[in-house]
Amino acid sequence: MGAPSHRAGHRGRRGTGATPGMPAHAARASAAVIELNKAHWPVTVLGPGRRIGLWVQGCSIHCPGCVSQDTWPRDAGKRIAVADLLAWCREVSRGAPDGVTISGGEPFDQPAALRSLLLGLANWRREDHLDFDILCYSGHPLRRLEKEHARLLTLLDAVIPEPYVDTLPQGNLWRGSRNQPLVPLSPRGHARYAAHIGAAADDDKRMQAAVEGGRVWMIGIPGRGDMARVEALCAQRGLSLTEVSWRR
Ligand code: SF4
Repeated sequence: MGAPSHRAGHRGRRGTGATPGMPAHAARASAAVIELNKAHWPVTVLGPGRRIGLWVQGCSIHCPGCVSQDTWPRDAGKRIAVADLLAWCREVSRGAPDGVTISGGEPFDQPAALRSLLLGLANWRREDHLDFDILCYSGHPLRRLEKEHARLLTLLDAVIPEPYVDTLPQGNLWRGSRNQPLVPLSPRGHARYAAHIGAAADDDKRMQAAVEGGRVWMIGIPGRGDMARVEALCAQRGLSLTEVSWRR
């Protein structure tokens, strides 16, 4: 079986160079490049509505229990021009996403690239009179983001900060552990996210699966022990999982 990997809002994230599903011209020269693990459309389990999901490559935080450990190393081979990524976003969503979720990896480990991406998304939204929201995960504490990345926060509608803590109870909707808040940052973010701040996770809609390039991608926030249970069920049927994202 392929390598189930897991896309989570700060319980994991990961990807491949030019990434499955991404345009073939990913390596084209561009002023701004971003190391990208994975992109997917539509994502329905990491924020409201049908969303573009973008997972960056590289995370310096290394939370114990992270299920996307394959996103940890920086990898120049996974660079994509931000302009090409934006073109893919427009094309794949046919100009009608409800939102964009940026996860990883740690998006704020690439601040210049993140800024270019956020400015590009804002331009697209404005030029095409769209109303999609931009939600970003980070494993950094909110106070650190406010101190070191205040300008980037102004380009977001909402952020889910703080590291994943495996020893804490499961978090609320779209969150991996109880310490992770959902923080609206803009009027659009308040309108769209305020009702979800204290909402419990939806047990019937935690995860979605995608098969791409011979790999199985598990997207979302798994319940505690879910990935071990998946592995055990596969083993009972004679399937062994290789290259899983929750082990290094
Ligand atoms: S911040 Fe923590 S949970 Fe998120 S990708 Fe990095 S190690 Fe994993």
